[in-house]
Amino acid sequence: MIEHDVVIVGGGLAGSRAAVELARTDPRLRLAIVSKVHPIRSHSVAAQGGIAAALKNVDAHDDWLTHAFDTVKGADYLADQDAVEVLTREAPRVIIDLEHMGVLFSRLDDGRIAQRAFGGHTNRRTCYAADKTGHAILHELVSRLFQYRVSIYEEWYVLRLVIEEGEARGLVMFHIPTGRLEVVRARAILFATGGYGRVFNTTSNDYASTGDGLCLAAMAGLPLQDMEFVQFHPTGLYPVGVLISEAVRGEGAYLVNGLGERFMERYAPSRMELAPRDITSRAIDTEIRAGRGVHGGRYVHLDVRHLGKRRILERIPFAHDEALRHLGIDIVDAPMPVRPTVHYSMGGIPTTIDCRVLSAHDQTVVGFYAAGEAACASVHGANRLGSNSLLECVVFGARAGATIARDLPDRPMPTFDEERYRREADELLGTLLAGNGPLRIDALRTQFQDAMTDHCSLFRDAATLSAWLATIEKLQARYCDIRLDDRGTCFNTELVEALELRSLLTVGEMIVASALSREESRGAHSRTDFPERDDRRFLKHTLAYQTPEGVRIDHRPVNLSLQERDPERFTPQARKY
Ligand SMILES: Cc1cc2nc3c(=O)[nH]c(=O)nc-3n(C[C@H](O)[C@H](O)[C@H](O)COP(=O)(O)OP(=O)(O)OC[C@H]3O[C@@H](n4cnc5c(N)ncnc54)[C@H](O)[C@@H]3O)c2cc1C
Repeated sequence: MIEHDVVIVGGGLAGSRAAVELARTDPRLRLAIVSKVHPIRSHSVAAQGGIAAALKNVDAHDDWLTHAFDTVKGADYLADQDAVEVLTREAPRVIIDLEHMGVLFSRLDDGRIAQRAFGGHTNRRTCYAADKTGHAILHELVSRLFQYRVSIYEEWYVLRLVIEEGEARGLVMFHIPTGRLEVVRARAILFATGGYGRVFNTTSNDYASTGDGLCLAAMAGLPLQDMEFVQFHPTGLYPVGVLISEAVRGEGAYLVNGLGERFMERYAPSRMELAPRDITSRAIDTEIRAGRGVHGGRYVHLDVRHLGKRRILERIPFAHDEALRHLGIDIVDAPMPVRPTVHYSMGGIPTTIDCRVLSAHDQTVVGFYAAGEAACASVHGANRLGSNSLLECVVFGARAGATIARDLPDRPMPTFDEERYRREADELLGTLLAGNGPLRIDALRTQFQDAMTDHCSLFRDAATLSAWLATIEKLQARYCDIRLDDRGTCFNTELVEALELRSLLTVGEMIVASALSREESRGAHSRTDFPERDDRRFLKHTLAYQTPEGVRIDHRPVNLSLQERDPERFTPQARKY
């Protein structure tokens, strides 16, 4: 059996930052990162617009408390305020630390880190590296993994989490290039496995964002928190769905409908195109449904022509490339067609502010931690503000590393029945490889993704959700009917897709059941049958558990610690922009 002090599943920003923190704290630790792709290909590399911090380089009056207020208001008051305080207070320090590591942030004329406007943020506080910020940060972090000699298991797929008697003891993984199975034990396990955008048919997420970590946690009997809150980014390039970063609106782009109107005036007059994403996405969808899409179609225009060629190429070169590459449009001369695309998971594996995974309201799982998009420390509540996710990965990645380093001295190497887990994993893979049913993976996946998009999208209602939930259970039963054409063990990507499909079906069911249970509209969750926010019944987090009888829903309270400090700003109130 393979053995490490700490195993981190995920080599994106959160996982890599945690490894760096652990290596800095105690270089003797035997650290490992497991990733189903090379760490540098983790989805973090695609992050574009920037990372928020009240550095005050552009708006001198900015401070962490204003950043915290913007975040809590953006979250429609569902964020845990103690977690938001950690996020926003630590932000300036982590940016300076990244800069010292060598991250090449864009600069002001006087050499300080430049900061731009982003949706829902009162001040210009988003630090950036043109519109390739994730690329700039991840490359520095991953090069540190080599410097600190972290063991990297790249192209290993984790298919089982071993939790026994309330403690995490290990995991089972297989090597995609050879099919070799390995059981791993560790004194601490961190999940930094990213999001689940591929549950839907149109998404800005890469093919690997299939919610595996969430599925494995749920299958181990742990709850998933606030899964009903799925972020749609307002500006996915139509029809492909790839992201046109919020940085484009931060630089001054206009959203225009088929009548030539800057329609955000009707929805968020004080912020216009820089309203938070939930409001902007619903506004675009409403315009399209009302027949005011461009040429009556299913998109509106994002127009940057007034910014001029020099600024476009200097500040948002990636957006320029994407429009040219996918649609042949030069945005210097023509507007881009856009519409909302699934982008981010506000929900995830519930954690404390120290990244310890919760098994219920206030119990934690010994030796198990989560950080980044897979986790729900709840800094984003019902709606995330742009540029707060990279920040979460770096702040809470470092924090997870620090917590694990503190916990390790009291944590012996666990033991468990290795053979049992190896046998069960072997049987699972064997059954998938031998399956002779009538269904192709792609058929089942497409049917599922299309229906998720049709029935659990920007607007929801009870009748549609409950009918769809019953159908998901039937689709899950059909999983045994899939047939793989590739029966080999060498780079069997079909086998990986089959395991990922298991994740999509599990996570999708959690999203729909949670959405059905929340009978109100808050942030990204908009119920046409319950159009108002209802703090009396629903100012609480949803916990969804997978059980043989279907999804069981429970709740936990929202932390409102900043409300005591500043009641005027932090007491939940109607959200207007
Ligand atoms: C196009 C795009 C642009 C964005 N731009 C911004 C931005 O400008 N600012 C911002 O704040 N946020 C942005 N975001 C969001 C942000 O990039 C992500 O939330 C963040 O990078 C997630 O990082 P992570 O470390 O949690 O996960 P990821 O970077 O997604 O890494 C997940 C890791 O888990 C591994 N993994 C998953 N499952 C398994 C398994 N079964 N076995 C082994 N390994 C596994 C993967 O291989 C990968 O290494 C953007 C998102 C998108 C899609």
